[in-house]
Amino acid sequence: MSLKVDVVEYDGLRISGLEVTEIALPGADGQLGILPAHIQMISTVGIGPMRLTTPDGGVLLFSLAGGFLEILGDNVRILTESCEAAADIDVERAEKALKRALAKLETITPITHPEEHRVTTNALKRAQTRLAVASGKIV
Ligand code: ATP
Repeated sequence: MSLKVDVVEYDGLRISGLEVTEIALPGADGQLGILPAHIQMISTVGIGPMRLTTPDGGVLLFSLAGGFLEILGDNVRILTESCEAAADIDVERAEKALKRALAKLETITPITHPEEHRVTTNALKRAQTRLAVASGKIV
């Protein structure tokens, strides 16, 4: 038994009909594991790593930047702001984004700048996820 995964970004399909046996990704309430015959559901997706297990037992790692998820039968569709495969991640860019976010967070608090703090915290999470996925250091 397997699942078919589509990942849709704003500018088009990033992954189309990929056959996998398991999906692990950041769900609304922590890490979500999806196996074939999962119940139908719609959920939000957080910022974090996504691990796809292929039928030959291989593991593909992606950095996911939040969005929505729909499970319908054995079809899983993820709509996200961005999804990069480990090999496509520009580590230098992510390191710069990480430094920028950390520097910003030194100057603001959730009380004084709530929206900016939320946006910057998300940028920090995206950068941390990209660096973890690129290095393969995902548990
Ligand atoms: P930056 O500040 O470096 O732009 P960001 O987190 O604000 O980082 P996003 O808005 O999440 O960037 O992404 C914009 C586009 O750039 C998306 O298509 C995303 O896949 C791509 N992208 C962002 N950072 C990287 C990276 N380090 N490596 C590869 N692609 C990236």
